[in-house]
Amino acid sequence: MAKLTAPKGTKDVLPSDSYRWQYVESVLKQICNDFNFKEIRTPTFESTEVFARGVGDTTDVVTKEMYTFLDKGGRSITLRPEGTAGVARSFVENGLYAGVLPLKLFYLISCFRYEKPQAGRLREFHQFGVEMLGTTTPNSDAEAIIFGAEIFKRLNIGNITLNLNNIGCKECRKAYNEKLKAFLEVKKDSLCETCQERLGKNPMRIFDCKSEVCQSLIKDAPTIFDCVCDDCRDHFNTVTDILDTVGITYKIDKGIVRGLDYYSKTVFEFVSDNIGAQGTVLGGGRYDGLIADLGGNDAPGIGFAMGIERLLLLAEGAMEVFEDTPDVFFIPIGDAAKKQVYQLVYSLRGQGISAEYDLNARSVKAQMKYADKIGAKYTVVIGDDEIAQGSYPVKNMSNGETVNVAPDEIITVVKA
Ligand code: ATP
Ligand code: MG
Repeated sequence: MAKLTAPKGTKDVLPSDSYRWQYVESVLKQICNDFNFKEIRTPTFESTEVFARGVGDTTDVVTKEMYTFLDKGGRSITLRPEGTAGVARSFVENGLYAGVLPLKLFYLISCFRYEKPQAGRLREFHQFGVEMLGTTTPNSDAEAIIFGAEIFKRLNIGNITLNLNNIGCKECRKAYNEKLKAFLEVKKDSLCETCQERLGKNPMRIFDCKSEVCQSLIKDAPTIFDCVCDDCRDHFNTVTDILDTVGITYKIDKGIVRGLDYYSKTVFEFVSDNIGAQGTVLGGGRYDGLIADLGGNDAPGIGFAMGIERLLLLAEGAMEVFEDTPDVFFIPIGDAAKKQVYQLVYSLRGQGISAEYDLNARSVKAQMKYADKIGAKYTVVIGDDEIAQGSYPVKNMSNGETVNVAPDEIITVVKA
């Protein structure tokens, strides 16, 4: 029979690695707690319309990368390529705008994009993201950015650059798009086919093109940063003032437009040079028009999403994280001892101690080796004598010291 393999662009997270994921997830959840963000869980798939309208139908994600299919009822369904559109749909559908605002939400999800797999680029990948809905102030932009910076700080990840841009509101973009079009119209024939189309529909998207030719053609184009209205300029200046106040350093990168259509005003990316081409670990921005595009009240929002796989690539070597191993391993000799071990393991586990014993009928010697291999912190060998005397030798595996205690005192030794 042919060997079964995981689909291209997907990855198993094996037990030898999953503890690193759990560690990162626990740090992220702790930051959410400290910043007062609450979790939202939305479906893995949505009506295709949610992304077509929510992400924007001139984006790479929507035009090229979505996993879209008809279900058995003939509905067009899409596996979520990102988190924000589903959260926005839920916000509208559940009337959350009528509650206390801003709503500060986070999600930890898998996403699906049909892309060319390479290091840090998968077809199923994982995102951590936050969204703040129902707030227009620059303070919330700053809060999202400070949150992002906090992640790298707590995970000890250095060499990260925070890039910021101001891409203005709908109004300043309208005027700017005309300027950009005029600049590029004369070079139109040299643009790639996709960008020729973008020039008509959404010229700013050309900044996102990966072709070197297009990049060189757009290099000297006027930037949106220099063309925004006074409101948008003031908004951005307040954001950078707050970052300056708390001591977060950044660079202005007038070329960032972000891959998704819904952004406005502040956009930002945290980028690393350490993981090759896929250097953008976290990206986000303000999306004041999104909720309205999805048919809701005009609730403004700001958020970001971060790729967990890319974060883990970066965190290699930076994180001091160790796999958790059993606290205590019991080795029974004889039938009476076996029964005693069943009881002890059951009782200790119930009290939050990771207790373990052999499930594979190994010899006593082999059990010793096995206990060592799985990294048990303590071992206890129990035979008829130990039971008769009510005294159990609890051996510390790191220094070989043994203390003899009554069965109900084992917990105090192994907890220490
Ligand atoms: P890129 O330019 O690398 O394609 P993007 O702009 O498409 O990134 P976003 O849509 O902003 O990415 O998603 C936010 C984050 O999710 C990215 O910064 C990245 O860390 C992660 N990400 C996006 N696509 C993938 C993927 N295919 N595999 C792994 N991580 C990804
Ligand atoms: Mg992409």
